[in-house]
Amino acid sequence: MNNQSTLQNKSTPQNKSQSGAHGVTEPLEESRRRQLIEVTIDSLAELGYVGTTLAQIAGRAGVSPGLVAHYFGDKDGLLDAAFRSLARRVGDHVRARLRQISTPRARIQAVIDANLAPEEFSQKTGTVWLAFWGQVLQVPSLRRVQSAYQRRTLTNLRVALGELIPAEDARTLAAMIAAMIDGVWLRAALSGWREADSESARAMLTEFVDGRLKAAAASANAASNTVSNNHAPSLDQDKVRHVTPAAGERFASINPANGEVLGYFKVAGPSDVNAAVRVAQRAQVGWAATTGAERARILRRAAELLRARNRELAELESRDTGKPIQETLVVDVISGAECFEYFAALAQSLSGEHIDLGTQAFGYTRREPLGVVAGIGAWNYPLQIACWKAAPALACGNAMIFKPAELTPFTAVKLQEILLEAGLPPGVFQVVQGFADTGRLLTRHPDIRKISLTGEVGTGKAVMSDAAQTLKHVTLELGGKSPLIVFEDAKLDNAVAGALLANFYSSGQVCSNATRVFVHSSVKAAFIERLVKRVGAMRIGDPMDPSTQVGALVSEQHMHKVLGYIERGRSDGARLLIGGNRVTTGDLGRGYFVEPTIFDNCRDDMGIVREEIFGPVMSVLDFDDEAEVIERANATEFGLAAGVFTNDLTRGHRVIAKLQAGTCWINHYNVTPIELPFGGVKMSGLGRENGRAAIEHYTQLKSVYVAMGNVDAPY
Ligand code: NDP
Repeated sequence: MNNQSTLQNKSTPQNKSQSGAHGVTEPLEESRRRQLIEVTIDSLAELGYVGTTLAQIAGRAGVSPGLVAHYFGDKDGLLDAAFRSLARRVGDHVRARLRQISTPRARIQAVIDANLAPEEFSQKTGTVWLAFWGQVLQVPSLRRVQSAYQRRTLTNLRVALGELIPAEDARTLAAMIAAMIDGVWLRAALSGWREADSESARAMLTEFVDGRLKAAAASANAASNTVSNNHAPSLDQDKVRHVTPAAGERFASINPANGEVLGYFKVAGPSDVNAAVRVAQRAQVGWAATTGAERARILRRAAELLRARNRELAELESRDTGKPIQETLVVDVISGAECFEYFAALAQSLSGEHIDLGTQAFGYTRREPLGVVAGIGAWNYPLQIACWKAAPALACGNAMIFKPAELTPFTAVKLQEILLEAGLPPGVFQVVQGFADTGRLLTRHPDIRKISLTGEVGTGKAVMSDAAQTLKHVTLELGGKSPLIVFEDAKLDNAVAGALLANFYSSGQVCSNATRVFVHSSVKAAFIERLVKRVGAMRIGDPMDPSTQVGALVSEQHMHKVLGYIERGRSDGARLLIGGNRVTTGDLGRGYFVEPTIFDNCRDDMGIVREEIFGPVMSVLDFDDEAEVIERANATEFGLAAGVFTNDLTRGHRVIAKLQAGTCWINHYNVTPIELPFGGVKMSGLGRENGRAAIEHYTQLKSVYVAMGNVDAPY
């Protein structure tokens, strides 16, 4: 029974009305009841439950005690109505927020935000709630209101959570969230509203829910016996581990800009991976049965969520990788979102072929998903790599298990959350954490049909060899030592800009970087002068500072590798034009920063020219002849990328056609629109990511012969 019906039972209707708060007319009777309830709430806030009497309220409201009794019966009736009014207000706010929201995660947030809104977190409202709570056990009508209020909160939470995680987990987590809401509220109330405010309380709940959702999703992914792989960041500090932790042990993720621990993750072992595969197999069947349009809707929604959370994700990525925020804000997340948009569109246009076989038969092909596939990522573009693998895999109806590099484990987990929030069924995209051993569990698993790896050439060989045992499909995006050729007729400023883009983005940790810059000897001096000037002006600093252009390298170990190459360049006789040192000024000494470095007078046989450094180290070489430079550019085991700067377009196309590289640019460098396939030749890889070409790598063809006549057998 609600407040409204109580009134109707007791009222002596008067058909007068007056203007309400928003200009809407309401019966005078209702308005008076509301006024008395407000007076009661004020009185409870000031005098508490015991001090609030009918006479006292009548006096405050300027009416006779008989009128109060007429509306509410006795004190219990009045307090009951006041309590209902408070509970209803929260309920109305929850409903109003829910009406505007469609995703489950946002609905959970709406419940939290409404319950911990500033008006509920005020001293006055809080004191009144506290007064009621003190009576709930003794007064049955208050108990009923309280339990109805609690039931509604739990139901709202459970229903939203049920769309993200299994029902049992949803029930448990709903109860935990409700308890947390009550808990933060109670603590704040008991501290006289000094200990927390609405904003910090909501932030605390948001963090709690995000952390629990990660864990619950992981356990949903890996069924009842899976160990959760992802753990909310821990606050204690730890040292970088030099011994690879075993399955079940935890490892720390470090911020390479200052050496601080960002959080801990648990290494997934055989039982975790097996369970994840089992869950993926079940989930994939349902996912593959959806229409392209349904899959597209979810992928598009994921793209929207990625864009909406660009800053939050970019900041996390910058902390985890050391890359400047000015890069991650415009590249990493956005590129992932574009990838989801692109493959959402392709999901709706997947099709087979009709093949005419004369009047008695025809054939057709079906483009079918592979099943459960795995992605293994490198650490330089953690979120982008996860998106570039997940989007085509999911668009084609596969389930994917993704292992990020152990140095950068965070944003793949965020992608998993976003996909769940976008409506992807649990289990279709799962993240397992760990090192090479965990990767091997994927590459050797008999029920995984494909591996897409981004990593070093050596890892690519190991993965392909393991995958061969179960004849898995493989896509390998591997390393490079790409050439950039600047001809004498090139627009020099563009060529210099291209060389900068080809070497110093992400502190030089980009697979397609052109670290061998061949410049025609007639323009080399001018090229170098402009290049060195621009490099000298680059700002090295805290990755979170928007003006920083060069951030940290990903780890201490990697920094030493890069510094080792710089030393080798010097001792091999290359001329250091600029850079060459670790940066240790101020706070940067706590992180792993290396100056952008340029070597001149390089020879083709030097280590810095032949091997992938994966750091901010450019080697400048000169040439005189087109055929000569093509031959030298191709004299490498790698074949990921190449670039040419020239104003002679005929020469541009001619040279590009002869370069042994999978991804090429004419008069630009390192731009990677999703529409264009990306990948390498020779030792730089197999298969392609992005573009329509990626569809080939995440589907298999089924050929169907359809007979329309009789079957003529010779037996
Ligand atoms: P790694 O090859 O060291 O690692 C790549 C991933 O493979 C990591 O997740 C790693 O796990 C995992 N792994 C390592 N060994 C095995 C194995 N035997 N079986 C299965 N998985 C394994 O590469 P980095 O992370 O150091 O990344 C840098 C490299 O990636 C560079 O060579 C770069 O050129 C290349 N790259 C290529 C790109 C392309 O598109 N072509 C793009 C970006 C980078 P963990 O590290 O956690 O131990």
